[in-house]
Amino acid sequence: MSSRPPLLEVTDLKKHYPIKRGLLRRTAGHVLAVDGVSFSIGDGETLAIVGESGCGKSTVARAVMRLIEPTSGTVKLEGRDITKLGKTDMRPYRRQMQIVFQDPFAALNPRMRVGDSIGEILKIHGLGNKREREARVAELFQQVGLNPGQIRNYPHQFSGGQRQRVCIARALSVRPKLIIGDEPVSALDVSIQAQVINLLMDLQQQNGLSYLFIAHDLAVVEHISHRIAVMYLGRIVEFADKHTLFANPRHPYTQALLAAVPVPDPTIRRAKQVLQGDVPSPVKPPPGCPFHPRCPSVMPHCKVDVPRQRMVGAGHAVACHLYDEQLPAAAPSI
Ligand code: SF4
Repeated sequence: MSSRPPLLEVTDLKKHYPIKRGLLRRTAGHVLAVDGVSFSIGDGETLAIVGESGCGKSTVARAVMRLIEPTSGTVKLEGRDITKLGKTDMRPYRRQMQIVFQDPFAALNPRMRVGDSIGEILKIHGLGNKREREARVAELFQQVGLNPGQIRNYPHQFSGGQRQRVCIARALSVRPKLIIGDEPVSALDVSIQAQVINLLMDLQQQNGLSYLFIAHDLAVVEHISHRIAVMYLGRIVEFADKHTLFANPRHPYTQALLAAVPVPDPTIRRAKQVLQGDVPSPVKPPPGCPFHPRCPSVMPHCKVDVPRQRMVGAGHAVACHLYDEQLPAAAPSI
């Protein structure tokens, strides 16, 4: 009996940017923006990728969408390897994956009425005649909680939260299976963030959508995600379902990120653990464990040996030498 492949399967994805120097533009090194990332997303599932700025999470989002070409690795959509597809062959897969960016103002053409921005996507994909497209735009406006009377407005006539709703409507317009949110609520006020996250969750229920949700803050993804991958300097250092990750974080970096998440209950105290220093440069990552210069539990061999991902529980993988003994290595795509 053949089992259905996951909606999205990413295996050993790498994106290395060459650094060119001198008159002859010789390659003097590489920025290891993403350095061997693997994960999968099932139907109706939300996977969050979390990490500080510069960890490579947005590069993963763009490489999955093929907005940038990966250096190596594979991206499979419903079992089909789309990594090397040309523009024309890629078109039906593009329709199945849509992206919502952090800055809705930059994502919308300021000189185009928002209804036309959405209608244009439908036209590009050959969906419906003019009247059908107008009806679909009105339906989408209602779905994302906007007044269809605003369809002829320009982007500047909306608030930040409303503009992000327009971008979500545009992403939904072609009925995708996967929406990639690249920090989709980071630029919004906290109260608006909650509204947009609730909207995304409602839309997931109504449309059976899957999400790849990129964020720099664990607090933002706590509500929306099913599973969470924590990234540091181009690699996934911990991977678990949401409840396990919040209840029992194992990697010192995840523990530090979690310590920064405010707890709404004043009777619960989290150990204070402030992250020292910045993320090191991906041009020259530290040898061994890339987190070792900032790690409170660093051991001598952490500065030499790169830790492999190991299973510390069901579906819970960690790349840290603290868990080297007696634990099996994790499967390449969790
Ligand atoms: Fe810290 Fe060592 Fe684990 Fe890296 S491998 S996170 S330095 S204990």
